[in-house]
Amino acid sequence: MPPIPIISHPDYDISVPAGHRFVGQKFSDLMTYLAQQPYWVGFDVIQTRPVHLSNLRAVHDVDYIADFAYNRLDNTALRRLGLPWSQRLLKRSFLAVNGTYQAAQLALQRGIACHAAGGTHHAHRSYGSGFCVFNDLAFAAHALIRHHSVRRVLILDLDVHQGDGTIDICTQNPALFTASLHGENNFPFEKRQGSLDITLTDGLGDDAYLAILAEALDRIWAEFEPELVIYDAGVDVHADDGLGRLSLSYDGILQRDMHVMEFFKSRNIPVTTAIGGGYSRDRSELARRHSIVFAAAHAVYGTSP
Ligand SMILES: [Zn+2]
Repeated sequence: MPPIPIISHPDYDISVPAGHRFVGQKFSDLMTYLAQQPYWVGFDVIQTRPVHLSNLRAVHDVDYIADFAYNRLDNTALRRLGLPWSQRLLKRSFLAVNGTYQAAQLALQRGIACHAAGGTHHAHRSYGSGFCVFNDLAFAAHALIRHHSVRRVLILDLDVHQGDGTIDICTQNPALFTASLHGENNFPFEKRQGSLDITLTDGLGDDAYLAILAEALDRIWAEFEPELVIYDAGVDVHADDGLGRLSLSYDGILQRDMHVMEFFKSRNIPVTTAIGGGYSRDRSELARRHSIVFAAAHAVYGTSP
């Protein structure tokens, strides 16, 4: 079996003010952590290329792209984004939005490919929100459909927050199905209506979560047979997450990710993953949590030496 592709880039990290919720170094932390794991030999790292502007316009308003690119966002827009503008943020945003699309193209060949970033699901068509500048999930899904790579894409969002931006961008397209399991008492407080939305109560633990997920996957499959899955594997469902409000354990998240992969692998549907949200002041612990989806990919799709 060929190695599992990981899409990444050394310029993914961003700098944020001290004490900021978002851990700007989590992308390089994750790659460093992964390189120390025994399963690392089963992966192949591929660098992202910046997105083509003409493609980005399919999912974002040209005025918003230009205002962000030329640092013309006003204070209200920057507050909603939740990140300070910088050259680093500019560069990484044009890289990372393309990473999930690149991973998806590789997943069509290998059955699985993992983006070591992505899941910026609060980015709407005409504004950024909740630490998300551009929406890589919606971008990848639209680009795959537009280029006739596949006919139907499922965006499965298991980040603890609802991907309101993804729904905003994808809702009118019958080739796309958005499914989300998210905390009912968490950001965004005004929920959108996607193809399937399941709200979760505070404190939900592994067993209850996994039962709800299994039922949700059956419902999705009954309604919509995708030809590719874009999976946002946010780890802010973890019990110790700084923003999460749920109570999943490390093993619970590993089971979640493996269940998603096994479900679609057994039906011959390729899966591409994005890391999504995760919040902890402990950087090594956060890297360990974000590594779970890669460990799951290795367990389900890798080969034993
Ligand atoms: Zn989140």
